Amino acid sequence: MKLPKIREVKEAITALMKGPYTSNCPKVPHEPHPNFRGQPEFSDEKCVGCLACEAVCPVGAIAHKDIVDDKEGPPRRIMIHYTDICIFCGQCEAACIANHEGIKLSNEWELSFFDRKEAFETIEKELQLCEICGSPIACKGHLKWISEKIGELAYSSPTLYLSRLKSLEIIDENIISALKDNGRSDRVKILCARCRRQTTLTTV
Ligand code: SF4
Ligand code: SF4
Repeated sequence: MKLPKIREVKEAITALMKGPYTSNCPKVPHEPHPNFRGQPEFSDEKCVGCLACEAVCPVGAIAHKDIVDDKEGPPRRIMIHYTDICIFCGQCEAACIANHEGIKLSNEWELSFFDRKEAFETIEKELQLCEICGSPIACKGHLKWISEKIGELAYSSPTLYLSRLKSLEIIDENIISALKDNGRSDRVKILCARCRRQTTLTTV
C-alpha cells in the first residue's frame, strides 16, 4: 500500500481542525471577490440606447432590434445581451456614454441554463421616428443626452431642440404640421438626416 506523503497528512490534520479547504457551494452561495468580472447587466434607468456598447463588443454579444410598426406599443429599440457568448471583457462598460452605468459588469457568476436560446437579457428604450418618412432616428433618451451634452449648440438643430422641448413636456408630444408639403414648413420638425437634407436643399 502506498503511504501518504507528509504534506498530505499535514493537510488532512489541518482540514480536520479548521474545516475543509473547499467552500460549501452549492449549499452556501459562493461570494465572489469585489473585483470579480461577472455577467454584464443593462440598467433600464441609465441606458439611453446609443449602441456604443454594441459597436465595441469584440464577440458580438450585444445586439439590438428596432420595432417601429407594432400596434401594441410605441416605437422602441430592444437592446439584447447574449449571455452565452459574452467573455466578460468589460469593453461595453468602458465605452458606455451614460457614465459607464448603462451596462455594468456584475458579480453574477451562476450562468447555467438548460436551453441556449434562453441565454439572453433585454431592455427596451423608446425610439424617435422621423416625422416625415417614419424611419428611426435614435432613442429619445439618446437625443436628450446629446442636447444636454452640447448645451445651447442644440438650438442649431431642430431635431435636437424639439426633442428636448418634448422631453420637458413644453410642447405637445403628438403635434403635427397643418401643411403636408414636404417643404419649408417641414424644416422645424424632428427629421432623419435624409429628410433634413431634402427639406433644406431641394425646396425654395
Ligand atoms: S463584457 Fe465584453 S463580450 Fe461581454 S457584452 Fe461586454 S463587450 Fe461584449
Ligand atoms: S447607453 Fe451605454 S449601455 Fe446603453 S446603448 Fe449606450 S453604451 Fe450601451
